[in-house]
Amino acid sequence: APTIVWLRRDLRLSDQAAFAAAAAQGPVMPVYVLDDETPKHRIMGGASRWWLHHSLKSLDTDLRAKGSRLVLRRGKAADILAELAAEHGATEIHALHHYEPWWLNAQKDLRAKLNDNAELVLHHGNYLLPPGTLKTGSGGPYKIYTPFWKSLNERMPPAPAMAPPKALDSPDAWPDSDVLDDWNLLPTKPDWAKGFTDHWTPGEQAAQDSLEAFVDKAVQYDEGRNLPSEQLVSRLSPHLHFGEMSPATIWNRIAGQGAKVETYLKEIVWRDYAQNVIQQFPQYGGESYREKFRAFPWRDISDPKVRKDYDAWCRGQTGYPIVDAGMRELWATGWMHNRVRMITASFLIKHLLIDWREGEKWFWDTLVDADFASNSVNWQWTSGTGVDSNMFVRIMAPLTQSEKFNAGDYIRKWVPELVDVSDPYIHDPEESGAKPPSYRSKIIAHKEARARALDAYAKVK
Ligand code: FAD
Repeated sequence: APTIVWLRRDLRLSDQAAFAAAAAQGPVMPVYVLDDETPKHRIMGGASRWWLHHSLKSLDTDLRAKGSRLVLRRGKAADILAELAAEHGATEIHALHHYEPWWLNAQKDLRAKLNDNAELVLHHGNYLLPPGTLKTGSGGPYKIYTPFWKSLNERMPPAPAMAPPKALDSPDAWPDSDVLDDWNLLPTKPDWAKGFTDHWTPGEQAAQDSLEAFVDKAVQYDEGRNLPSEQLVSRLSPHLHFGEMSPATIWNRIAGQGAKVETYLKEIVWRDYAQNVIQQFPQYGGESYREKFRAFPWRDISDPKVRKDYDAWCRGQTGYPIVDAGMRELWATGWMHNRVRMITASFLIKHLLIDWREGEKWFWDTLVDADFASNSVNWQWTSGTGVDSNMFVRIMAPLTQSEKFNAGDYIRKWVPELVDVSDPYIHDPEESGAKPPSYRSKIIAHKEARARALDAYAKVK
């Protein structure tokens, strides 16, 4: 009988413990279930679905090269896997562990459905350490990033990567598989993702290529990571989110370059940290951690005036060049530079006084790397509502940030109305009298926005 490998956000063959274990036992049946049905399952956003389509296609090609294939099914993951196991007499389902609340439920549900007939075997491998492993001096899980990083770093490096299985034996009979194109994961009318292929190649090979392209840049990362006009970040986030590469592979490839690459390793650890937070607080994506913020007087997005501000933010029409460049980069490519994510998020929350959860939802739908843990942890960090957070009263000045991090070329790339505006006027063309008529005026002045945000905060302080 075959061993089933249940794939989720772990779409790779290298350093994939579920594949390694299953391949060692005999025939393997790799299965991906598109689950839009399990209650409370967070439906994947549009940009993620685009990535998923291409990543599944790539994995199927890689599997076929090893004599195998990918079985696609749609529905409740636990039901489908239990049925497949029964039909094919499989007594083991191997998978990598996932910690989103809906996956924890599905894993539990699957175990119940398998009863004593088959076993779900979960392996570690999507994170440097399984979330929840590290404990503070008093025995609890970490809440704050810096001690978390220190403790994790002491346990590094991770074990060397497992090689991909050389070949995968097929089961006697393959079950029916859905046709990927029938899932309609790609947008049609309008095809808002048509530009994505210029920026991304999903799949395991492309993930490895991106890592190789970044290795020599890692020593410049400490300074370079803040400069959106430069190409000095790794752009590995969607590959990591979909598990096309393990974080251990990245650590082992980068860490050998000494102290200069520590800042980069620390960012990879933010990903582990975010997972460690949502494992403790599964509601993190839906509610402010700090209770006082649950009564915060956010402007109500159902009011048409507020909605107009929100739409202006989504479309990159705020009159703040760095904010508009970021939001347009996001729309055009499904990704945004981290420094600019912080600026745009802060702008929505503090300048527009709109609930961080609205921004989190927009990012969820538009990012190719949309990740329940990383997205909610970073939104709550920016809004000051989280477990380890920036303070709400630290209000980022977008125009100053733009100048400080030399965002001129970045703005000219994404905001064509400003292509002829030079530095330093580009950061605040309205103030410097360089604003062309085609570029809109600021939707709110910085000083006014700041005062309004501080007033609102005073009400919950
Ligand atoms: P690099 O700078 O090259 O970093 C390498 C890797 O480290 C990233 O690929 C990522 O996996 C991890 N990483 C880096 N910074 C962070 C961070 N702050 N938190 C968690 N992991 C990090 N990242 C996501 O992967 N998914 C999200 O949904 C997401 N939403 C975000 C929302 C906001 C408001 C903010 C401020 C940040 C968000 N991030 C998110 C974190 C970060 O912006 C991206 O991981 C990063 O920009 C991806 O680009 P990169 O791969 O070039 O990163």
